[in-house]
Order: sequence, then C-alpha cells, then structure tokens
Amino acid sequence: MLESIRKRARTGKVTLDLPAGDLPTPFRGMPVIADAFRSANVAEECSRVCATEAIDPEKKTIDLGRCVFCGLCEEACDGEGIRFSQDPRLPCGKREHLVLGGREFPTVKAAPDLRSLLGRSLHLREVSAGGCNGCDLEAQALGNPIFDLQRFGIDFVASPRHADGLLVTGPVSKNMREALVKTYEAIAEPRIVIAIGACAASGGIFRGSYAVENGVGAVLPVALFIPGCPPHPLTLLYGILGFLGRSPEKNPRR
Ligand code: SF4
Repeated sequence: MLESIRKRARTGKVTLDLPAGDLPTPFRGMPVIADAFRSANVAEECSRVCATEAIDPEKKTIDLGRCVFCGLCEEACDGEGIRFSQDPRLPCGKREHLVLGGREFPTVKAAPDLRSLLGRSLHLREVSAGGCNGCDLEAQALGNPIFDLQRFGIDFVASPRHADGLLVTGPVSKNMREALVKTYEAIAEPRIVIAIGACAASGGIFRGSYAVENGVGAVLPVALFIPGCPPHPLTLLYGILGFLGRSPEKNPRR
C-alpha cells in the first residue's frame, strides 16, 4: 500500500488540461489550405495522389470525412497547397461541415433543450461497425488517466438502455447493420449518434465496397461527425465537448 502511494507521488499528475497542446507525430491535425491550392494546378496535383478521392480539384476542397490523413497530398505539393498542422481541433459537425474549402464553419452544437436535458452527463454505448478498430482504440484511450473523459461527466456504458446515445466507428458493414439499428432503437429518446473517423463518415478506405453501407449516415441520423483516421483522443474530446456547448477554450472543467 505504502509503495503504491509512493509510486503515485513519484508519477505526479498525468492528466492533460484542456486546451491541450499539439498532437504528437505521426498524428496529423487540422490541414492548412494555402492560397496556392485554389489557383494553378496545385489542387489537381494533390488530388492525383489521393487514394480516397478526398480532394475535389474543381471545387478546390478537401473532404475530411474521406481523408485518411496519409499526408501524400502535402508531399505532392511540397506543402505549397496543403500543409497538415498538429492542431487537434478539427471541424466537427454535420457531414457537410467536414468539407473544407478555406471557409470558416460554425461549431455545431446540440439543441439547447437536449443540452439542458443532458446537463453535465453523457453516457454513450460504443458500436464498432466493421472498421479496423483503430478508432475504437483511440476512443477507449479517452478513459485512461491522461485524457480522463469521466472528469467531464462523459462515460461509456455496456447497455444501450443506460445510454444517451451511440458512438459508432467503422463504415457499417452489411453484417453489422441490423445490430447497429437494434442497439440504436434500444436507447430511449432523445438519443444522439456520434460517428467517428473517416469510415464512419464516408466508408473511408472501404467506400464503394459491396460489403459496406458507406458510413453511419446511410443507416442512422448522425448528430456529430468527428473526422480522423483514426481521430486522436484530443480531437474526440474537443469534438464532443464542443457539441455539448462546453468548449474547452472557455471552461475546461465544465
Ligand atoms: S492526406 Fe487526405 S487528402 Fe491528402 S492524400 Fe491523404 S487522404 Fe487524400
């Protein structure tokens, strides 16, 4: 017992305060789109190397709902058009809010009556709907002492009967569709659906496969999309807290 207390004292506090610093490599954060991307052939050059067709060379946009943050576009244009920062705060919200064209998007928040109903508590049932489990691992990391999701009153629960909503990962394989819908229906209304990662937003690298539904939006009404492949736990925290109107920039502990 004494040894445990000594060890605890030696370790000190490991929990990150919010707002936190930059993402560690190899994670990539918010892409910075330079003016060069909107002119000349830079968007075209970037789109040629993008395996997920996240870049639209005509509209000069990058769809973070499809982007897997591989960084090949940045390499292709030597960072002249797109450069990935280490900023974990990515745009989160409705599906269309993930498409960046250099414009600013409003932060999407839950409706005031839902926020007031939830108060300071949010319980989520996680469903892994056919992805690689990368997003699941990052979501589970939220519970460790570094990110300590529970300090915000947010937690994962085992039963949908105890949940306020679903957190879904993966492109929704055809085999998982029924299980996902049944889990959703077992949650009392009002219920929210949060889709995390490129697969849950668009099908990701599985998009177009005969075996998937190309994202959670094709099956359930999604209230919040959080991009990434996978999203870092900090991106998840910023996304969920922002949605609940508890932006960490303003008041980290509320
Ligand atoms: S980082 Fe995203 S947009 Fe760039 S090439 Fe990779 S998937 Fe495409």
